[in-house]
Amino acid sequence: MRVTISAIKADIGGIGGHTRPSDELVQAVKDFVAKNGKGMLIDHYIGYAGDDIHIIMTHQRGVDDEKIHKLAWDAFTAGTEVAKKQGLYGAGQDLLKDSFSGNVKGMGPGVAEIEMDERPSEVFCIFAADKTEPGAYNFPLWRMFVDARSNTGLLINEKLAEGVVFRILDVMSGKIADLKMWEDKAELEAALMYPGRYVVSAVYSADMKDHIVSASTDRLHNIAGTYVGKDDPIMIVRTQKNFPATEEAGSAFNDPHYVAGNTRGSHHMPLMPVKLNSAASLNYSIPIVSCLLFSMHEGKLTGPHDGFGTADWDLQRMRASERAMIMRNQGFIHPATLIPEELEYNKGYEARMKKLESKFRDMDSGKKGKGKR
Ligand SMILES: [Mg+2]
Repeated sequence: MRVTISAIKADIGGIGGHTRPSDELVQAVKDFVAKNGKGMLIDHYIGYAGDDIHIIMTHQRGVDDEKIHKLAWDAFTAGTEVAKKQGLYGAGQDLLKDSFSGNVKGMGPGVAEIEMDERPSEVFCIFAADKTEPGAYNFPLWRMFVDARSNTGLLINEKLAEGVVFRILDVMSGKIADLKMWEDKAELEAALMYPGRYVVSAVYSADMKDHIVSASTDRLHNIAGTYVGKDDPIMIVRTQKNFPATEEAGSAFNDPHYVAGNTRGSHHMPLMPVKLNSAASLNYSIPIVSCLLFSMHEGKLTGPHDGFGTADWDLQRMRASERAMIMRNQGFIHPATLIPEELEYNKGYEARMKKLESKFRDMDSGKKGKGKR
């Protein structure tokens, strides 16, 4: 059976800041999708990661379908109405355009979609992150599909040993490149090195027949022309059989690496694996990622099981908290903060620099007594 999974997410308001949506907001989105998805969706699930609410849908309309995207857009619009009534912070923040125009891509919400021939035991994970950017998945995806130290399956699974194809997006030019493992490994790694510039948008099997990974790649400031949020990414990863085992995919997040994001979207902090429907932390908004595991049969979902909900992940949360403090202890000094072009409040930084520049003078002019304060 041909089935499409669409995972669409947006930040449309948080309680008391960028924390989590209100129960009423989530309910409004649920009610809207339940009512208006009838006859169009096979199944759906709605939850959140920090202040980002995600709509997971299964259907037979393929990727980039106008009706599916409009359903999500309208559901977020309905949620925004509640957010406004409740005075939630950042109400409708990710809905960057006034009206829907065919596809939510480029309008603010993040989209990950895969159309597939459903396997007898179709299994997939959805990774939903908050307070970070699409490049946050570069390192875990490298660990899943390239690094045998992280994933023995790359050696002992025939299909994975053949190598996969990474589709990389240059977020500045909007161009894509397909890089085949293993011949393009060095070029892939060179690209993944700078997650603010090059991000993984998809992973395919060696013969390009199986779409294994789809990740949202929109960078909001490239859409709005100014910073409006940190493009919190969502990603679908199909697992088992010819793909990574579910635990090979999940464990790629077991060593919280530093990513861009958190408070004011202007710092580096580790990506902390959290339980489903977790709020963002008040400790400087540590970047978070949750893992929704689903089984699917004829488009019907069973789950989500909480991928990072077991006791052992508490240790990773502690590690992330420790690493967060190590970085926070150096305050505003780079690399605790991002480079100027990546700062959320770039305008504020530019204003400081302008004032600073006005105070600079030639060293010689000081000797001659000029340029005194
Ligand atoms: Mg967010």
